[in-house]
Amino acid sequence: MANSRTRIGIMGGTFNPIHHGHLVTAEEARIQFALDRVVFMPTGNPPHKQIGGEVAAEHRYVMTVLATAANPFFEVSRLEIERSDLSYTVDTLRAMKESYPDQTEFYFITGADAILEILEWKDPKGLSSLCKFIAATRPGYSTMKLERSLALLREAEEAGYPDVELMHIPALAISSTDLRLRVREGWSTRYLVPETVAGYIRKEGFYRDPD
Ligand code: ATP
Ligand code: MG
Repeated sequence: MANSRTRIGIMGGTFNPIHHGHLVTAEEARIQFALDRVVFMPTGNPPHKQIGGEVAAEHRYVMTVLATAANPFFEVSRLEIERSDLSYTVDTLRAMKESYPDQTEFYFITGADAILEILEWKDPKGLSSLCKFIAATRPGYSTMKLERSLALLREAEEAGYPDVELMHIPALAISSTDLRLRVREGWSTRYLVPETVAGYIRKEGFYRDPD
């Protein structure tokens, strides 16, 4: 039967910390693309690259759970935080596929800034067979520039290039970088991150030292 396939969104990110920009993006993708569920996928701690604020993967995972717990369509995966070999989106998707029925459709959700990085990163042709991409508008990132870059990539690769849909969402100029700065400076983060996340940041004393 057409349209009976399960549609899973994957929202990848460092989530250091998770904020309302991430949550709005995931919820809009769920609604606009009729996704059955959105799986948040916090990145593992890369062995060489330091993540700003040095918050361990386990804590970023906990913050992601706290932020998403009340949404029945959201869940959080431990796949990347538990496996150091999953540093590329294509590897994560292959690993994800193993635990879902064959016909499941996957949609990788990103912001306008992250999509090109992912596509240029590793094995775009491999990616195109695994999932579609949803690129959300993000303040500070020109959609015109993004559309032009995507058109160029498609021209260069022609057949087999990843399917990327641009998604318009209510603009939230929130970033984890700005939030880390706010915590360090003692400025308010209220209404930018869920209160449960703000409480956890305070309790654990994250982001007080320079990145
Ligand atoms: P940092 O400043 O540390 O890079 P970030 O706010 O960009 O943090 P990430 O964890 O890097 O958060 O982002 C995860 C995903 O969410 C990326 O695809 C990113 O483009 C997207 N994203 C983050 N913030 C927003 C936002 N305000 N609007 C739309 N998309 C966003
Ligand atoms: Mg980012």
